[in-house]
Amino acid sequence: MVKTNKGDFTADAAIVTLPLGVLKSGTVKFSPALSEEKQAAIARLDMGVLNKVVLKFPKVFWPENREVFGYVSENQQDFTDFFSMTPYTEAPILIAFTGGSFARSLENLSSEEIVEKAMAVLRRAYGNGIPEPVGVARTRWNADPFSFGSYSYIPVGATTGDRKVLAEPAGSNLFFAGEATSAKYPSTVHGAFLSGIRESDRIKNNF
Ligand SMILES: Cc1cc2nc3c(=O)[nH]c(=O)nc-3n(C[C@H](O)[C@H](O)[C@H](O)COP(=O)(O)OP(=O)(O)OC[C@H]3O[C@@H](n4cnc5c(N)ncnc54)[C@H](O)[C@@H]3O)c2cc1C
Repeated sequence: MVKTNKGDFTADAAIVTLPLGVLKSGTVKFSPALSEEKQAAIARLDMGVLNKVVLKFPKVFWPENREVFGYVSENQQDFTDFFSMTPYTEAPILIAFTGGSFARSLENLSSEEIVEKAMAVLRRAYGNGIPEPVGVARTRWNADPFSFGSYSYIPVGATTGDRKVLAEPAGSNLFFAGEATSAKYPSTVHGAFLSGIRESDRIKNNF
């Protein structure tokens, strides 16, 4: 039985595809509790953060024939990767990718503060004459209560074996899928997709 704020659902079997970050947060309770081995694997694995900052400009000021460009900063906590969306949208849009502790720190800043940090890098690269953005959108994957991070990784002290433990069924009717359970293709869409097939096959063969 799955109890939710939209009612209770019962079935012969269930597949849990909650992100690792949600499993780690404890916001979803299991009864009976998950095995100590599974809880330990959940505790050892961790969620990394990859956040995007989308900037829309009045015009393109970067080389139009470049889709990706990097900035090697003296400062580790800085914007380093920009992707031009112009080839796909025909609009003057850059997306900055940010990772790790820098990405986490940006989540506490206002959009104005983030724009100022990104513009400081772009001005260093393209000069003070570049235009200000006319629109900004940003992700906050670490704070998102439905993910608590972007995708899983193996920190010091964890192993691929922890992903295999996470993928094991709990009892005879509770199954686990999602990118963090994929030993072969973790942190990817195809890893998540294939893990769903893996678990539906397991149910098909067990019932
Ligand atoms: C910025 C970024 C860039 C990425 N780039 C790539 C890429 O280029 N290529 C690639 O292959 N992968 C990429 N990934 C990774 C990929 O998106 C994930 O690995 C994949 O989406 C994981 O799928 P999943 O089904 O395991 O989890 P999710 O897609 O996170 O699905 C989990 C679902 O559970 C729901 N949920 C969570 N909590 C609850 C709750 N309490 N109650 C009910 N529902 C809940 C969520 O809303 C969500 O719908 C990227 C991820 C990010 C964040």
